[in-house]
Amino acid sequence: MASHLLPTYARIDLAFERGEGAWLITAEGDRYLDFTTGVAVNVLGHAHPHLVEALTEQAKKVWHVSNLYRIPEGERLAARLCEASFADLVFFQNSGAEALECAIKMARKYQSASGKPERYRIVTFEGAFHGRTLTTIAATGNKKYLEGFGPPVQGFDQVPFGDIEAVKKAIGPETAAILIEPIQGEGGVRVAAPEFLRALRQLCDQHDILLMFDEVQTGFARTGELFAYQRSGVTPDIMSLAKALGGGFPVGACLSTAEAGKGMTAGTHGSTFGGNPLAMAVGNAVLDVIMKPGFIDHVCKISVLLKQRLAEIRDRYPTVIAEVRGEGLLIGLRAVNPSSELVDELRAEKMITVGAGDNVVRLLPPLILSEPEMVEAVNRIDRACARIAENHARPPKAGAA
Ligand code: PLP
Repeated sequence: MASHLLPTYARIDLAFERGEGAWLITAEGDRYLDFTTGVAVNVLGHAHPHLVEALTEQAKKVWHVSNLYRIPEGERLAARLCEASFADLVFFQNSGAEALECAIKMARKYQSASGKPERYRIVTFEGAFHGRTLTTIAATGNKKYLEGFGPPVQGFDQVPFGDIEAVKKAIGPETAAILIEPIQGEGGVRVAAPEFLRALRQLCDQHDILLMFDEVQTGFARTGELFAYQRSGVTPDIMSLAKALGGGFPVGACLSTAEAGKGMTAGTHGSTFGGNPLAMAVGNAVLDVIMKPGFIDHVCKISVLLKQRLAEIRDRYPTVIAEVRGEGLLIGLRAVNPSSELVDELRAEKMITVGAGDNVVRLLPPLILSEPEMVEAVNRIDRACARIAENHARPPKAGAA
């Protein structure tokens, strides 16, 4: 049957009926090991009992009231996020792109409220991904995403990732902020060096511009710290979050210091659904689990073991895997051949992964992955790599061009 969905995704012909922890199960009962987690979303796996309970309990009380009234669950979640981070203020939305929209508006408004309304431009980085709204595709700067959608939203100056001299050159009298992912996810699991982030912080302080970290993909223990910025010791002024915040329930957040958020007064921004009681109940439940003593230690332990085993696989199959990179459980395998081949062979092994830029296959397991499940994943990756190595080693068929 032809689908009536707008065909903006080249979907794989595979549907899941339910999930259990790190596993997704089809209607036919086939079990897939989930190393995509809805692209870094299902941080606690599927059907986590604490999240199911929080959502169903809230569903019995009240779903939605709008931001015209106080939402106590949201006030509690905002307080907890601020307690756990550099931030003083939180605005909730429904997605990552919306969190970025808020961050970008906030940076411009901060400059305007500081008496410098001419400062509206934002320095961004090649390989970035900030979302698919008109403003966030301009911030992303990828020609493929901009093509055909008219003049890009003004005000973004893109420079090579990691190039501090290029950043210095890009900063001018109209610059309001610098926006960066501490680890580029979609861009191919490219990790920003701590000294680069430190140099950005210095430049921001020197020029009175804001440092904005997009942690939509890296937030909530994914990289082995609650937030990736904590790895580098560099504190941003504004941070965007989404994905794992709701563990599968759509929710995003823009966090800021009181100073950076000073221009966002009543009436300057809004959202009908943002921060509704259902989303807030789930967000609080996600935090309950992630903040438990030992949770992040588990992520770090599984990460070290998995990366060791992946390094062995890379050594065994140098014609298949060129590099293993990333932090925590945001891991990239840079493929030698087209990365889609590895994604396909892993799917044949009933393990789902997701591609990224730079010919990388991303491994994004749920953070509750057990050691035996990690070993199972390694065995599946090993078998997929063996098959690819063999296919490429085979001499071309007689008669082939
Ligand atoms: N920022 C980053 C770093 C992301 O990885 C993504 C999505 O992949 C986004 C923003 C956009 O988030 P959403 O798809 O929820 O709008």
